[in-house]
Amino acid sequence: MPFIEKLECALCGLEHNAEGVQGLCQSCARPLWVKYDLASVGASLKRDDLKGRPESIWRYFELLPLRSRESIVSLGEGVTPLFQAKRLGRYLGLNELWIKDESRLPTGSFKARGMAMAISKANELGVKSVAVPTAGNAGGALSAYAARAGLPAHVLMPYDTPIVNQREASLLGAKTVLIEGLIDDCGRMVKEGAAHLGWFDVSTLKEPYRIEGKKTMGLELAEQFDWSLPDVVLYPTGGGTGLIGMWKAFAELNELGWLNSANRPRMVACQAEGCDPIVRAFESGARHAARVPNATTQAAGIRVPAAVGDFMILDAIRESQGLAVRAPEKDIQPWMERASCLEGVSLCPESAICLAAASQLLSDGTISKSDRVVLFNTGAAQKYVELLPKNPVRVDPSDGEWWKRLG
Ligand SMILES: *Cc1c(COP(=O)(O)O)cnc(C)c1O
Ligand SMILES: [Zn+2]
Repeated sequence: MPFIEKLECALCGLEHNAEGVQGLCQSCARPLWVKYDLASVGASLKRDDLKGRPESIWRYFELLPLRSRESIVSLGEGVTPLFQAKRLGRYLGLNELWIKDESRLPTGSFKARGMAMAISKANELGVKSVAVPTAGNAGGALSAYAARAGLPAHVLMPYDTPIVNQREASLLGAKTVLIEGLIDDCGRMVKEGAAHLGWFDVSTLKEPYRIEGKKTMGLELAEQFDWSLPDVVLYPTGGGTGLIGMWKAFAELNELGWLNSANRPRMVACQAEGCDPIVRAFESGARHAARVPNATTQAAGIRVPAAVGDFMILDAIRESQGLAVRAPEKDIQPWMERASCLEGVSLCPESAICLAAASQLLSDGTISKSDRVVLFNTGAAQKYVELLPKNPVRVDPSDGEWWKRLG
């Protein structure tokens, strides 16, 4: 009993048929929302019914877009751990800092959630080949799920994408193409490849279902906190799918009456100073973000100079009374190391930007000590070998007093 009702343009509201393959809005070329018949979901599913279900994103099947469970293409995604980071919280000056550790998903990043959903739906709709522009992790995740579904995949990435991302896509059998440009150049080329070679374009928000996969972060968070949401969510924002998806999850849960209180978290979009289009638009009060030329940051996953869902990110931030904030590039490595040393978590550079931002927001009073704050660790540090410390001590085994070198 699927509850997906229709697709609706996020900007102009035009309805699209959910039975066929869809991309962006046919009128204004902006993203489509999946709309569910939530009254019927609520009549057939109670929040306590979830209790006995398997620990995976598919436990929320009634709130997901598939028509049949047979269509699921899975590598065992979700539920990810949510743990309190006491040492790191103390270091920052927060009573309650929590980390939702997305690095544990297939291919080591939360891109697995979106790709599991997009590829499962593409599988259901009979798509024959897929392609994606990527700043890093989306390529690996798409390659893995496409391999699992037996679909040929093409992955287009900037030539300076982290090396692990380049090689994992090849390892997983995708045709991997390096482009002398940024992710939006790759995006245009995927569109051209789609027109000439018949690929299905799985770009961020250019098909309606990756966001439904990312939405499960919000569903899990609510369930893990026993249906009371935290005060603040720190989210490293590139294309923004996860932030938008979580905000959608909270709205759907609210409509279902599953939340203990109407309070929803302030959504904080964190960006690097060298690529901060959403912060600029937020500060100027604009609903759309101008492209940032020459975007640079080592936090590859948030090196997105222009996002097709810019207004959806900005709407969610503003509705939530949250904000968009930039943090310095030089803070990335220290925060990766600090968080990893203090908590044993494998913190990615994108989430390090969030910690640098949080420390600013705590000192200027935007976040208070008593707020319950959740940081999404969106990927595994190991995927960024370029940024890992390179300081092991070398010892000669024939050195009779080798221990002196450890002093
Ligand atoms: C893609 C990515 C992001 C940004 O996610 P969006 O939802 O597209 O904003 C953040 N962190 C990592 C590790 C990523 O791979
Ligand atoms: Zn439209």
